[in-house]
Amino acid sequence: MSCLFCKIVDGSIPSTAVYQDEQCYAFADINPQAPVHVLVAPRKHVVSTAECGEDDRALLGHLLWAAAQIASSKGLGKGYRLVVNTGQDGGQTVDHLHVHLLGGRPLGWPPG
Ligand code: AMP
Ligand code: ZN
Repeated sequence: MSCLFCKIVDGSIPSTAVYQDEQCYAFADINPQAPVHVLVAPRKHVVSTAECGEDDRALLGHLLWAAAQIASSKGLGKGYRLVVNTGQDGGQTVDHLHVHLLGGRPLGWPPG
């Protein structure tokens, strides 16, 4: 498996861990777009929300739950944004599902 985020999850590529449990691993984005920019990825290789199956329903909920826990632990009481880029038009560049947690500054809308 040559997937970048699988290698980060298994520790063969270094990352800055933020949170982890039996289902997910969260780490600092290497090119942060906000004072807090964390990626929450499932340990299991799932390409994107478009490739999720029936079996992944609980996992998808778990990723959002974990992101909210991290946001709380980072003191993002004024708010934050969760983003899941999906596919080419969605701007996905790493084909292993991940939730971006962005916060620590006001975030513009709409996104680009
Ligand atoms: P996306 O464009 O939604 O697929 O997001 C991929 C994200 O992964 C980008 O925000 C990148 O900055 C980030 N990224 C790429 N390589 C690494 C890495 N080795 N460690 C941490 N974050 C990374
Ligand atoms: Zn993967």
